[in-house]
Amino acid sequence: MKALIVANWKMNPATWRTAKRLFEATKEAADYAKSVTVVVAPPALYVRELRSLSRGKRITFALQNVHYGSTGAYTGEISCAQAKDAGILYAIIGHAERREMGETDDDTRKKVAAALAADITPILCVGETTRSANGEYFNTVKEQLRTGLADVAPAKLGRVIITYEPLWTIGADKAMSPRDMHEMAIFIRKTVVEMRGENGMSTKILYGGSVDESNAGEMLRRGDVHGLLVGRASEDGDKFMALMNAIHNA
Ligand code: PEP
Repeated sequence: MKALIVANWKMNPATWRTAKRLFEATKEAADYAKSVTVVVAPPALYVRELRSLSRGKRITFALQNVHYGSTGAYTGEISCAQAKDAGILYAIIGHAERREMGETDDDTRKKVAAALAADITPILCVGETTRSANGEYFNTVKEQLRTGLADVAPAKLGRVIITYEPLWTIGADKAMSPRDMHEMAIFIRKTVVEMRGENGMSTKILYGGSVDESNAGEMLRRGDVHGLLVGRASEDGDKFMALMNAIHNA
């Protein structure tokens, strides 16, 4: 199975000129690493033009956030239908940085449902803010899954991607260990199956948090994940090429 790599550019780069350069490097890396499926999540403003530059290549696009309404008085927001109309196939929902800005589990529930209704694949991010030894983080993740997936019909679970991306591993010095991710992947699958039955086995799971060329291969081999959500290592062409090289040759 091909690894799925989601390149989350966040609010970078600062200019369109640099975004184009980064995209050229990203395309080159994606062309080289044919065993990898690449989804780029640039600032929404850049998507249409980047898409026209991708000329049907192997790259598809995600928005970093969507709104659950279809149209209307939601200043500053973008709907799933608008995303679909722009050729976008995925939406990141509930990223830890957005949760820090006030996004709630209930918001993620509405966004996941709206994405599926518009034929956009939701990438629902879950994960605790800090990790304590008493295992409380399992309850946090369970609640995020319980609410975030509450409106998803079992038959649609295969269209949902769950990313485990605890805030304490984002922008950090090192990623979580593949062994801990493996444990969490089993917990996520078990939780989804308990909630929604066997269809939960078809939900894809990604890991995110300080992924780079030094840890990606090991995480994909031993972490029980289908892919990775990547921040910093996707915001620099050379780093992204090194990452893709490591994954392709792992
Ligand atoms: C992210 O925020 O999605 C992320 C994973 O960031 P980084 O890879 O820089 O830790």
